[in-house]
Amino acid sequence: MSNSPPQKAPSIARVVVDVALDKEFDYLIPEEFSGTVLPGMQVQVPFGRRTAQGFVLGLHDSSEFTSLKPIQALVSDDPLISPEIMSLARWMASYYLAPIEHAIRTVLPGAVRKKGASFKQQLFAVPTEKATLEPELSVIRRRAPRQAAALDILLMGSEMLVSDLVRAAKVTHGTLRSLEEKGFIRITEGVAERDPLKGQEFLRTKPLELNEEQADALKKIVRGMDQQKLHVVLVHGVTGSGKTEIYLQALAHALQQGRGAIVLVPEISLTPQTVERFRGRFGEGLAVLHSHLSDGERHDEWHRVRRGEATVVVGARSALFAPVKNLGLIVVDEEHEGTYKQEESPRYHARDVAVMRAQGTGATVVLGSATPSVESIENVHRGKYELARLELRADDRQLPRVKVVDMRHQRYEGKPTLFSSDLIEGIRLRLNLGEQVMLFLNRRGYARSLTCPECGYVPECPDCSMALTYHKRLGYLRCHFCGYAERVPERCTQPGCEAEDWTFSGSGTEKVETQLSRIFPAASLRRMDSDTMTSKHAYQHVLGSFRKGEIDILIGTQMIAKGLHFPNVTLVGVVNADATLHMPDFRAGERAFQLFTQVAGRAGRGDVAGEVFIQTYTPTHPAVQAARRGDFDTFIDEELEARRTLRYPPFSRLVCVHFRGEDVRDVEEVSGRVYDALEPLLDLNQVMLSPPVPSPLARLQKYFRYQMTARTPKVILFTRPLKHVLQHLNIPRSVQVVVDVDAVSLM
Ligand code: ADP
Ligand code: ZN
Repeated sequence: MSNSPPQKAPSIARVVVDVALDKEFDYLIPEEFSGTVLPGMQVQVPFGRRTAQGFVLGLHDSSEFTSLKPIQALVSDDPLISPEIMSLARWMASYYLAPIEHAIRTVLPGAVRKKGASFKQQLFAVPTEKATLEPELSVIRRRAPRQAAALDILLMGSEMLVSDLVRAAKVTHGTLRSLEEKGFIRITEGVAERDPLKGQEFLRTKPLELNEEQADALKKIVRGMDQQKLHVVLVHGVTGSGKTEIYLQALAHALQQGRGAIVLVPEISLTPQTVERFRGRFGEGLAVLHSHLSDGERHDEWHRVRRGEATVVVGARSALFAPVKNLGLIVVDEEHEGTYKQEESPRYHARDVAVMRAQGTGATVVLGSATPSVESIENVHRGKYELARLELRADDRQLPRVKVVDMRHQRYEGKPTLFSSDLIEGIRLRLNLGEQVMLFLNRRGYARSLTCPECGYVPECPDCSMALTYHKRLGYLRCHFCGYAERVPERCTQPGCEAEDWTFSGSGTEKVETQLSRIFPAASLRRMDSDTMTSKHAYQHVLGSFRKGEIDILIGTQMIAKGLHFPNVTLVGVVNADATLHMPDFRAGERAFQLFTQVAGRAGRGDVAGEVFIQTYTPTHPAVQAARRGDFDTFIDEELEARRTLRYPPFSRLVCVHFRGEDVRDVEEVSGRVYDALEPLLDLNQVMLSPPVPSPLARLQKYFRYQMTARTPKVILFTRPLKHVLQHLNIPRSVQVVVDVDAVSLM
């Protein structure tokens, strides 16, 4: 007999309580529940003077707090997290160096963790009719400038979260209540209807007969599914090659096998059109999960999946954790998209976690894209993924012609211009033919910034190291990182300068709109970016009228670059390719190539062949040339070669350690200490560690930012020593250390 003491069950439960979802509290597990309390269970706990319902996130043997209160009762003895999802959460916590609580919070939506009413921070402010009446407004402007300021910001869009508005306008809740009392705004809670697809009719569709390329791709997927063990197929197909039809038929195969499936799409392409195509095939068996749902809707959809009433889930990133039983297939559409990376703890990449989840259930993963990521292509080269390639459009339409316009020699009335004569003539021709145009510019607002012509001063956000963007219509300067806004100062604010003029540098969508409406006064123009599209209804409304042909030219940021299908669009223009090409990031070229190709994919989806104009000051850039020729392979080969030489991903794993704090000396000091402690612990033949430097975005929302990057063949070779250092080094609370494993953004 061994005389080691019996394994003792953990005595502390970390609980998140309904009334304070963002905090965790420790409770004692009383003797009577010892061993029965599990993560994922709902419990009743004392909270202040009352009792509350909460949710067990994790179990521990000790707590940094004393005098803990005990759990009072178990609400359900059936944990909401299955063992399968629990082990996925554990893996994320360890791989991404995140607390298990964060991982668990990620796999279980807030709407499910929490019972009953919706949260306070989901209050929205919506301007009323009265807010648009000038005489009424001018009264407010005179008598209550703070209220007027809030109203101005609100009127930039059509609705705003109350908490955002309070911060942006620097006013109090009281200011907004006064506006509500005067009838200028309404304050409402987030959408209340529970069935996201209620009242919508869906035409049932039948599977199409696949062409040869599609059939070949489906065969590879089905073969993987029939083997019931992890298999990954990369479907690399040009825009319009019929990838979605392949997904639909693969999903049908999963259902035939009695298995469930998940389809991930980037939030931005989760349009009604997309949902319609899936709902048309699977009807009530489909559940939709995305961020525009109200808590109630999300709660209901989640439970429909859990009960097995819905077996196919379509959703954005976090839908990956939907409680689908007997999971047989995960589709990750637009797999190259950066938005699959979550930028808060746990900083997971949905594409990578999808492969982990599939491994656990023996599922097949389908990664789809017209421009697959460098990482996935390399995984094909290494034999980890199977490739299915589609070179033809399923609808027999031609790919658009791409013209690169060299902007270095373009002048309009002797001045540098936003629009080349080629583009203007192209647009004129299309409008005359009654066709539609989309113009793309990766920057909203009017001008990127104001500059004082006398002293060169550029107004910056007081909290972030970023120039403020000029919004002309309302005469505001706005920070695109934190939302800070102020009126345009009448004169330069630099002491001793006070010049009265500003010049504009860098153009935004608003300026494109203004100038273009002068050139084409008879055309109907609309701008679509996050300034004009603050609600999902505004977005759908504009897309609706564009589809009906009520709009001739649609101008927008990347919002319009993704997945939309407009048959009458025959010309697409990239107004300033350079804004995308020259970001301080080793992935800038890859992103630019993907973006140009996506944008080009918007042209010629109907019966008329499309054309694409890319305006740039660097026409020989490899990403521009590859996009022009539609030459994916050469681009990827060159890119892979460069990455190999520099040991960047996919030839290493990149871990970025961020240091943030309000005092720049603390930040510098802590980052230096971590580096010094870490370096001797690393095997420097394998791990390349760069010393800490100020981040490209050196200041954000009052925080100074430093970062340190490591390139390592295996994540754990770096994260294990790092974890050790972070635990043993005395890091002051004033400096926050954030670890980003497989970082996709280096800003
Ligand atoms: P992708 O997702 O690759 O961009 P889609 O799936 O949207 O392409 O397909 C483009 C168009 O071609 C759609 O209108 C679709 O209905 C049509 N299509 C797809 N497959 C076929 C097919 N086998 N036969 C006829 N039309 C098809
Ligand atoms: Zn800011």
